Amino acid sequence: MINPFENALRQLWGAAKVGEFPSDLIEKLSRSEKEITVTIPVRMDDGTLRFFEGYRVQHCNWRGPYKGGIRFHQNADIDEVRALALWMTMKTAVAGIAMGGGKGGVVVDPKELSVSELERLSRGFVRALWRDIGPRVDVPAPDVNTTPEIMAWMVDEYAKLSGDQTDATFTGKPIGGTRPQNRQGSEGRGAATGLGGFYVFDAVRARAGVAEGASVAIQGMGNVGGHAAKIFASHGYKVVAMSDSKGGIYNENGLDPEEVEKYKEEHHTLTGFSDAKEISNAELLELPVDVLVPAALENQITDQNVSRVSAKLILELANGPTTPEADEILHQRGAVVVPDILANAGGVIVSTFEWEQNLAGEHWEEEKVLTKLKETLVPQADLIWQRAEEKKVPLRVAAFIVALERLASVQGQAV
Ligand code: NAD
Repeated sequence: MINPFENALRQLWGAAKVGEFPSDLIEKLSRSEKEITVTIPVRMDDGTLRFFEGYRVQHCNWRGPYKGGIRFHQNADIDEVRALALWMTMKTAVAGIAMGGGKGGVVVDPKELSVSELERLSRGFVRALWRDIGPRVDVPAPDVNTTPEIMAWMVDEYAKLSGDQTDATFTGKPIGGTRPQNRQGSEGRGAATGLGGFYVFDAVRARAGVAEGASVAIQGMGNVGGHAAKIFASHGYKVVAMSDSKGGIYNENGLDPEEVEKYKEEHHTLTGFSDAKEISNAELLELPVDVLVPAALENQITDQNVSRVSAKLILELANGPTTPEADEILHQRGAVVVPDILANAGGVIVSTFEWEQNLAGEHWEEEKVLTKLKETLVPQADLIWQRAEEKKVPLRVAAFIVALERLASVQGQAV
């Protein structure tokens, strides 16, 4: 098993060495400020009681409240959550938003639960955690297998327990429903990670030697991958492959992501989709494409398969999809890896806009949200590209250096 937290630490210390940051700063950032493990008792529909383990890791709050999603996954563990929290600290610093880094996880396969069991689990997690979160303390959001509906249950439970009237403690909430409009989700949040990823891609594309309309393979078609596929296709790119956890489909002439999504919704599988070849997730990564977009889980591109990955540009919409060994090999062969802490920052940026709207009692038009997203993210992509060129380092190292400079200027004092 590849440990994502060890990978995150290797990235952190590697960049610190290039940027010549003081070891005190890096030692502090190598640890979480607070780690909470909770037990969540859930009454199942058949009357039995089951216990689920959950985590919230609060990595660093020097730049603002801890911020990061909650993942529901059978393989979630504390090291994964630690890694994701550390990356959130770097991501919010790269994005230049006044937030810190945190992350949560519950060890569960939500596909095995009924809707009411899922609601009880979501509310139970908040009951176990509510004293440690809050609009000025720690602001969770959705991640793998957590949805706007789950955020709605969580924020409702939090409001009941705490009396908070802002609903600003959770982002990625739905739009509509029974809560006042200025306490709901933000316009544009659903597509934000995929769209932000496209803005970053568009900013670096020409410099990376990728033509407009190039071929793209996308692993994962959840919130992030599904939106990314539609956005790439709508901008004239040829999306040749898509996948879910069970496998993928490939057509070298291009797929229609809307049709693929519709098919998956109806059949709950991609198997049988007409006019495409069935492929495994491993095969998807090795397709002869210009752009590869991992948008599922960590550790997909490793020293085991990197020699067969042929894409010119890898846009990391998932967190931690490339191991440090694979990263090094890709760099040596001249591939451009647009790192997660830049590529997928669109989600946390619009989450921050949602938090701001809730605190101010406002609800912004979609156009305003998307304009602000682009204005926030694209200059950071340009800056990181420039920094990578100046220092002759990969984009990931440059992104960590930019984040570390911003963190160093506000670092918590040692006592
Ligand atoms: P999601 O649950 O909506 O979708 C996950 C997708 O990955 C699904 O299509 C699922 O079938 C697929 N998948 C699961 N296991 C897989 C496997 N072993 N191989 C291939 N595909 C698999 O989750 P999401 O919100 O789209 O998150 C995807 C990635 O993006 C994660 O790494 C997450 O941390 C990252 N991310 C999400 C956001 C966000 O706003 N949701 C923001 C930044 C980063």
